[in-house]
Amino acid sequence: KQMSNKLLSKDVDSASLHFPPCMLNLHQNLRRRHRLSHTQRFHYSLFLKDIGMPIEESIEFWRSEYRLHPNGHHSCCHNWEKDEKKYIYGIRHMYGLEGCKRNYPSVNCQVIQSIDNSNSEGGCPFKSFDYDKMVPLLKNCSQPVLSQINELKSKGLYTNACMLFMQNGFTKENCDNCSFNFTPVKFYNMSISKSKD
Ligand code: SF4
Repeated sequence: KQMSNKLLSKDVDSASLHFPPCMLNLHQNLRRRHRLSHTQRFHYSLFLKDIGMPIEESIEFWRSEYRLHPNGHHSCCHNWEKDEKKYIYGIRHMYGLEGCKRNYPSVNCQVIQSIDNSNSEGGCPFKSFDYDKMVPLLKNCSQPVLSQINELKSKGLYTNACMLFMQNGFTKENCDNCSFNFTPVKFYNMSISKSKD
């Protein structure tokens, strides 16, 4: 159990049990390949920040992955040793400590869904992934609920599909009217608060 609301680098795997499918997918990709594209790294870093990761833990988290070779690319151009300054600057920037000193908020579902990500890496799995690729990200979901989710997905109601998944898996909290400003952080917070009941 976490003792405080601070998310430590070493606790991200256990916290990921409460991640929405979009962030779980990025997390799994990062653990597997040790790299994310720029946009995905940006979205995932901001999400971790907004669920309570302090800046020093963020630096530790990204360093631990970017020190490793990306699978299959042993002479890749990006690595922590070579680009440490750039990576740390990028993280400090997101925390509002560099450049325009704006504390960037994490992105909402509409933004994530508006980026077309039918490639393998990311976006909102309810929108970008086909059924077979989406299902492994939906743990503990019964077949009837999966069918309902798939129906919402086929109608383009991706956020509603996600909220149905969350309500089924984690919480009965009513979220009928929040699809317009739903965010991965809200998903996480609702999931965490349910698990503490
Ligand atoms: Fe993530 Fe939002 Fe898609 Fe859910 S609806 S998977 S929180 S982008």
